[in-house]
Amino acid sequence: MKKKELELYVHIPFCARKCEYCDFLSFSCSDGAKVSYTDALIREIDSFPDADHYRVISAFFGGGTPSLLESHSMRMIMNEIKSRFCFSDKAEITLEANPGTLTAEKLEAYRRMGFNRISIGCQSLSDVELRRLGRIHTAEEFHESFSLARNAGFDNINVDLMSALPGQTYGDWERNLRETARLAPEHISAYSLILEEGTPFYEKQADLDLPDEETERLMYEKTHDILEEYGYHQYEISNYAKEGYECRHNIGYWKRVPYQGFGLGASSLLNEERFTNTSDWKEYLSDSDKPDIIRKNPEKLERKDQIEEYMILGLRMNQGVSERDFLERFRCSPGDIYHDVIEKYVNTGFMQRIDGHISLTRKGISVSNIIMADFV
Ligand code: SF4
Repeated sequence: MKKKELELYVHIPFCARKCEYCDFLSFSCSDGAKVSYTDALIREIDSFPDADHYRVISAFFGGGTPSLLESHSMRMIMNEIKSRFCFSDKAEITLEANPGTLTAEKLEAYRRMGFNRISIGCQSLSDVELRRLGRIHTAEEFHESFSLARNAGFDNINVDLMSALPGQTYGDWERNLRETARLAPEHISAYSLILEEGTPFYEKQADLDLPDEETERLMYEKTHDILEEYGYHQYEISNYAKEGYECRHNIGYWKRVPYQGFGLGASSLLNEERFTNTSDWKEYLSDSDKPDIIRKNPEKLERKDQIEEYMILGLRMNQGVSERDFLERFRCSPGDIYHDVIEKYVNTGFMQRIDGHISLTRKGISVSNIIMADFV
């Protein structure tokens, strides 16, 4: 039987403290609770049906702050996954980590477990900005973590940065970008701050002194040019990489490779059905090995939903949507369904057709939300 490609996501919901802008499912908790969660996670992985039908092409441990978990707990989770699933030779296995939570011993242990990529949540290299965000670390601690990861042998490191922060000028953003690029991580994710409902930042947004729209646009547009100077190319709206280091996990997501999420509140897309694990801590701990109970809000995706998602996610990538892949999947071409929309945007310079791919131009990327809405 030919195995199907699968991506794995493992959610570790622990953080030392909640950042001011964060609406992720994360919280601080005791060491005992972390042990109970590790047990529950292992039971969930063990109960996954049909694991032998799949070949894992990437795994991503995200959170939260996965690097807060003790190494032996992480090892138990990883051992369980490796005993249940077959991995492809070149599988990308990423651990999300925050500065201030990494040590040489931990990083050494992660390498031995099989992690081959570290994603460091830095967000800013200014202590003033980091304090405003409520981050637990300083810029110096980020530099230390980065060096520790390199010394431990990680040759594939991502750094997360965030623009349009309270009180941030264009010059501040450029300094953050250049200082990061000089360290030469293989990958940089650069997202704009979004004010999510229910966060402290959302509540006090009137007092935040956020950059105006024009400055925010300048930050976004210049990011491409600045990072290009340091050998990065933009391969997605907010992601930049050195050649060959584009994040395979993200690309799989944008190409709609099936994925299974393990852990509290983790989402999955399997057999064209989307579902999300319970976010209820007690329910997860007691029933994590009963998929029928913990999987919530199942949604079967019809062909129309699949096509819309394929276009919208595909257009996020600079490479765009492959007309041949589209034809193989849906037995029709993008033009059969979206002829008028595609022509409109190609004729006005917002989209292009190159080598059998339909993609956004740079002009199109800056208004991508408006264009993508036309594909729904
Ligand atoms: S470290 Fe990340 S997940 Fe944790 S509170 Fe901050 S933004 Fe949220």
